[in-house]
Amino acid sequence: MRGTDRVFVSPARYVQGPGVLDHLGGHLVRFGESPVLVVDPPVQELIGERILRSCQEAGLRPRLVIAKGEITYAAVEDALLECAGFDVSSVVGLGGGKVLDTAKALAGRLSVPVITVPTIASNDSPTSSAIAMYDEQHRLIAVDMLPANPALVLVDTQLIAGAPTRFLRSGIGDAVAKVFEAEGCARGTGVTPLGTRPLGIALAIGRACFDTLQADAVQALDDCEAGRVSDALERVVEASILMSGLAFENGGLSLAHSLTRGLMRVEGAQMLLHGYHVGWGALVQVVAEGRSESEVGALADFLGSVGLPVSSADLGLRAPWHDQHVLIAEGTMTAPHLANLPMRLTADDVVAAIAEVDRRAGVRTL
Ligand SMILES: [Zn+2]
Repeated sequence: MRGTDRVFVSPARYVQGPGVLDHLGGHLVRFGESPVLVVDPPVQELIGERILRSCQEAGLRPRLVIAKGEITYAAVEDALLECAGFDVSSVVGLGGGKVLDTAKALAGRLSVPVITVPTIASNDSPTSSAIAMYDEQHRLIAVDMLPANPALVLVDTQLIAGAPTRFLRSGIGDAVAKVFEAEGCARGTGVTPLGTRPLGIALAIGRACFDTLQADAVQALDDCEAGRVSDALERVVEASILMSGLAFENGGLSLAHSLTRGLMRVEGAQMLLHGYHVGWGALVQVVAEGRSESEVGALADFLGSVGLPVSSADLGLRAPWHDQHVLIAEGTMTAPHLANLPMRLTADDVVAAIAEVDRRAGVRTL
């Protein structure tokens, strides 16, 4: 595909609701009778029996594959070996991002459809064709792409509501950045992960995603804390998984995601979930882009209201902060998405934008 093309990608089907996990088998029938179900040990304990029963009731012959540890090329080969002699009709990943990515990689090797069943809503990976590959030292070494998006994304909101609230908060942080990143790409010469130009629909979805979060995220986090499925929670889960995924794959990433490369290099921030990085990164991006006071203020207010970081102190950076900001900026400059910004930024510009975000939050750069 060429950089002048505009291409729309998405999962073929998206199903969301309380208790949909018990209907997994029925949804899998049309893909063939022998699905491989990829889980990690905690998810096996949590829902292993339920998913096997649902598949068996639907007349399927499932095989369970347990993914342990980091998603590496060697781990994918091991999973492949476990499927030897089994006529795999589809691969279903059930769990967090790493299990879903293992399932995607396995499906890619076997040339069968992949189905994602996120048990937490911490980022947009369930809908996308991207696979984050790591080495044994937990360093990101490649982002591989499947030839197609998942054939089905199945989200049981009862599971999401039962998971620790910090995961949903992370999903909200990952999602809130999407409109700013897609707009940045569209204003300049940015491209999507497919190397194509952003679509208008991605900007519209990104904006709707932010509007939904502004309206419902505080309530949804309260409901998640109480383990309660509500309309607000349903809307925020949709925003954090489906809208967020469609906006970035069709609209492109930018400075907010570039900053995550830098944040992974500094103590304190390293420990935070991806979406905590991205939400703060969106704030740095809108400041660096010189957006209006009302836009910057609205985003800062939103992040504060849902408990996402708005300063170096919130990120847990060690003093002296300026040195950490330089490290963050250096890592940021290595990210390919940086080229998607409408203007060229230097590492000094990034450091200045981070300091300005701190100043706005009322913290003096240490
Ligand atoms: Zn992300």
